[in-house]
Amino acid sequence: MDSADELLLIPGPVSIDDEILEVLGRPVMAHYGDAWTELYHRTVANMQTVFRTRNEVHLVFGPGQAAIEMAIASVLAPGDKLIAPSNGLFGDRLHMVANAHGIEAVRITPPPREAVSVESVREALDQHPDARAVAIVHHETSMGVMNPVREIAELARERGALTIVDAVSSAGGTDLDVDGWEIDLCVTTGNKCLAGPIGVAPIAIGPRAIAANEDGRPKTAGWYLDFATWRQHAEMWKTWHPHPTTMPTNVIRALDVSVRRVLEVGLDEHIRRQRAARDTVREGLREMGFEMMVPDEVASPVTTAALGLRGMDVHDYMRWLLDEHDLRIGGGLGPWADSAFRVGHMGRAKEPEVVDRYLALTQEYIQSRT
Ligand SMILES: *Cc1c(COP(=O)(O)O)cnc(C)c1O
Repeated sequence: MDSADELLLIPGPVSIDDEILEVLGRPVMAHYGDAWTELYHRTVANMQTVFRTRNEVHLVFGPGQAAIEMAIASVLAPGDKLIAPSNGLFGDRLHMVANAHGIEAVRITPPPREAVSVESVREALDQHPDARAVAIVHHETSMGVMNPVREIAELARERGALTIVDAVSSAGGTDLDVDGWEIDLCVTTGNKCLAGPIGVAPIAIGPRAIAANEDGRPKTAGWYLDFATWRQHAEMWKTWHPHPTTMPTNVIRALDVSVRRVLEVGLDEHIRRQRAARDTVREGLREMGFEMMVPDEVASPVTTAALGLRGMDVHDYMRWLLDEHDLRIGGGLGPWADSAFRVGHMGRAKEPEVVDRYLALTQEYIQSRT
C-alpha cells in the first residue's frame, strides 16, 4: 500500500470498495440528457427505498451539513423557535446552523454518555408550545449513541411541529423508517453507512415540510439551499436535467452503484453485517478490559466509542495503529479527547477480516506497552 493508503476504521469518511473507486475514475459524463436523467431518477428511487419513504428525494451536491442547512433554513424563518436536543458534536452543529439563520434553537442537554430522552423533549415542547420544529441527530456519531427518533417524531407531530432528522450516519446502517415514523425532513450522505462517495447528501422532503416552505414567511436559505429551487428544477427539467446546477456526475454514478449494492445485499442484511462488526468489536474490546462509552441498549451499529485502559496513552495507540499498520481509528471528542477512541463499522471497516485484524493489533499493542 502507498503510505497514504490507510484503511479507515473511523466514523467517517469510510473506506470504499475498488468497484466504487473505479466508477469515480471514469471519464466525466454530462449532467443532462436521457442516460443521465435515467441514472439520476434511478438513484433517487433507490434512496427512497433506503429512507423507506415515498416522499420526494433530492441528491444535493455537497456535504451532509449542506442538506441539514437546507432542511432547517427552508422551513424556518428568522425568529422561529426550534427544539434541538444535543448529546454531542453533531447536535451542537444543529444549533450553529439554526443560529446562523437567526432561528432560536432551544437547547436540551442530556447527561454525558446518554441518549436524548423522550421526556426531555416533551418538557421542552410544553415550555415552548410555539416551537415550529424539532431537529434531532439520529445517531450521534461523536458518542456512538442512538437517539429515539421515532418517539420524538411522534411527539412533535402531536404538537404540530415538524421533525428534522440528521440521519447522516444512520440511513442505510440502522433501522430508519421515514414514512412509518412520519419524519418531515431526513438527511444523509453517500460516504457513511452507504459506503459510497463523498460529495452528495440525499434529502427526503415530506408534504408538511413543503407546506412550511411555501407558507409565505421569509426564509433565509438563499437560492441553492432552498429546497424549493431543487423541487422546481426536478419538475421543470424532469426529462433532461432534474436538478438546478452542474452535478458531480462521477459522484452520483458512484452513489448509484453503492446504493444498488446495498439493496442487492438487502437493506436488512447490510445493517446486520454492520451490527455484527459492532458486536465483535465491543466484545473483543471488553475482553481486553476496555469500558464502552455508552450502554449496549443505545449503542449504535455504526460507531463504537470506548475509554482507554487505565494508564494507556490513547494517542500513542492510535498513532501506532496508523504508522505501523495503516489502520486509522478515530479519537475521542470534546472532554474525551485524551481518554477515548472511536471505531467505525461502516464501509470496509465492517469486513470480518478487518475487524479481526484490528482486534488482534489492539491485543498486540496492549501486550507490548502495558
Ligand atoms: C458525519 C456527520 C455529519 C457531517 O457530515 P458532513 O458530510 O461532514 O457535513 C453530520 N451529522 C452526523 C451525525 C455525522 O455523522
